[in-house]
Amino acid sequence: MNLSNQELFRQKCYLDGQWLQAGDGRTITVTNPANGRTIGSAPSLSRSEVARAVAAAEAAWPAWREMTALKRGHLLRNWERLVRENLEDLAVILTTEQGKPLAEARAEIKGGCAYISWFAEEGRRAYGEVIPPNTRDRRLLTIRQPVGVAAAITPWNFPMSMIPRKTAPALAAGCTVVAKPSSMTPFSALALAALAERAGFPPGVFNVVTGQAAEVGAELTGNPAVRKLSFTGSTEVGKRLMAQCAPTVKKISLELGGNAPFIVFADADLDAAAAGALGCKFRNTGQTCICTNRFLVEESVHDAFVDRLLARVKTLRVGDGLAPETTQGPLIDQPSLEKVDGLVQASLSMGAQALAGGKRHALGGLFYEPTVLDQVRPEMPVCQQEIFGPVAPILTFADEDEAVRLANETRYGLASYVYTRDLGRFWRVSEKLDYGMVGVNEVLLATCEAPFGGIKESGLGREGGRQGLEEFMETKYVILGGV
Ligand code: NAP
Repeated sequence: MNLSNQELFRQKCYLDGQWLQAGDGRTITVTNPANGRTIGSAPSLSRSEVARAVAAAEAAWPAWREMTALKRGHLLRNWERLVRENLEDLAVILTTEQGKPLAEARAEIKGGCAYISWFAEEGRRAYGEVIPPNTRDRRLLTIRQPVGVAAAITPWNFPMSMIPRKTAPALAAGCTVVAKPSSMTPFSALALAALAERAGFPPGVFNVVTGQAAEVGAELTGNPAVRKLSFTGSTEVGKRLMAQCAPTVKKISLELGGNAPFIVFADADLDAAAAGALGCKFRNTGQTCICTNRFLVEESVHDAFVDRLLARVKTLRVGDGLAPETTQGPLIDQPSLEKVDGLVQASLSMGAQALAGGKRHALGGLFYEPTVLDQVRPEMPVCQQEIFGPVAPILTFADEDEAVRLANETRYGLASYVYTRDLGRFWRVSEKLDYGMVGVNEVLLATCEAPFGGIKESGLGREGGRQGLEEFMETKYVILGGV
């Protein structure tokens, strides 16, 4: 990698203020999805080495929780400043291991910085309450305290923003952290750890471990010293981790998969809807949890919307994310490519029509053509499963009730989108959609000021907003008698 600061490329874990390899020398090889070349390797820590990270976090916790929120905030701000100063190098690391275009990588890192600065401030507002008492000689109050050692397990699709989204609220609340990034994208988290070290966090406060997911996960979920698990990833793994946390009754937040509907009503601004659709569907090659999975278009505007969407899809440039003209990178790995293509081919064989793409890209490797499928029906595989690829299935509906019914026919409940200019419909549909988030005439949902998260099998808890801090705190009730 061509970095101005090679110090950011770390192939060791950060544990108790030290950079370590696995004791037995085991490693995980990391490849560039754009060309299949090896980038480097990260340690594959043993379960006992992960336990050492937890012990370090536990030992560091008393002093960290005693520090004022103001001082913790200063350290967070140091970290944020260093991340911003190293933005270009971090973007190269992110694109090289994850594949997204450099412009998206830069935006992701800036988004992560916004979360750090938000929580650096929000930690100072962890207010308690004074409650009117039930008798004259008593006083009732609550205080909010950090939950303890927090574990963070993050996915490969946003490796630079997921770490700040989880660790910044934890650290601001007064928790110490052990983070485990995806084995496909560990170098983003390790680069962020190198900057956290420079920012001055005391040893043990911020730890990053890498290794075999099941082994590391078993320790992070089974160790009683870990009091909180914050996980982002697939619904399947989230359910398993939830079960693993049950014996020690940990506080958990789960940001899981989605099956987002994008409803276009006949009264919508169709140009705005098509522009939103392009960003919402094809960003990160369709590999975001809030990517549209199903476009539901009112019958009377089907052709007008599809024409506008196709014109925009034709502008996408597929290639290596490091090339300046690229707007769509590769998929993350071979199983993802097979899955996306399998969903497309199965839907085509059931009668869907490819208006754009519909197959692997001529570049080969992990590249897939930006795809628009028409004549799609709800029972087709492309609607039933989370696609996680650059495929836009188009369905139609006759009226508002049918749109809402189709939108809600899924076990997921993360993001949903509605394009309409009717104020009454804005309220009615927003209230009826069984989703944690509704974007009305807007697709950029994630922002540090607002609570991001899902319902149903899309998860528990929220990231961002004042709610994001709450996920790492306990409310303690104190009663004073004899007043
Ligand atoms: P994943 O396979 O569930 O992996 C997520 C993380 O969990 C990775 O760090 C992975 O490690 C780890 N992991 C896997 N098995 C584990 C186990 N048995 N114990 C402990 N950790 C384990 O998900 P992904 O493929 O990386 O990410 C895509 C999924 O994440 C999609 O479903 C997407 O919708 C969801 N997602 C949700 C949100 C949200 O905010 N709701 C945001 C982004 C992504 P390894 O990589 O080392 O296997």
